[in-house]
Amino acid sequence: MLTSQTEVLAQVFKALDFAADKHKKQKRKGKNEIPFINHPIMVAQVLTEHGDIDDPVILIGAILHDVIEDTETSNEEIAGMFGQEVVDLVLEVSDDKSLCKADRKEQQVITAPTRSDRAKNLKIADKICNVLDMVRFPPDWSLNRKIEYVDWSEAVVQGLRGVNPKLEKHFDETVAYVRNRLQS
Ligand code: ZN
Repeated sequence: MLTSQTEVLAQVFKALDFAADKHKKQKRKGKNEIPFINHPIMVAQVLTEHGDIDDPVILIGAILHDVIEDTETSNEEIAGMFGQEVVDLVLEVSDDKSLCKADRKEQQVITAPTRSDRAKNLKIADKICNVLDMVRFPPDWSLNRKIEYVDWSEAVVQGLRGVNPKLEKHFDETVAYVRNRLQS
């Protein structure tokens, strides 16, 4: 349990250093060559700015949310450095890699309502960032595929609602903005 604000900040910076190192060889999709680490940083930023979140487990979990899914990182490694609550949260928002891509996407829609409040907040912020990236750092996809991605993100978030009205409103505004930009 983190008590002082200094201790929380120390853990946050430790998580940033850890995740930046784990993701060092990855870039975000799209031709802008954005380092992957910018994505988890932005998710944590959206949680604070648009979700009023100050729970260190959620913020550290946001910074680490893709390390198990996308890098060679074990649950034990995270548990040892950041505690069991953080691992549990990261696992909750990680896809089951044994499933194919289409099944993983379907599972996200099905399991969304069963997630903890912490995981729901993190997932909504993750979807806000991913939807915004469709126009901020556009992947090399057809317009249709981008629209389908936004539709799917909305279906997932539908099952996550009821935990953070402010963050949910920001998701809706982001979707409206992105749909508008995609159509123009
Ligand atoms: Zn993510």
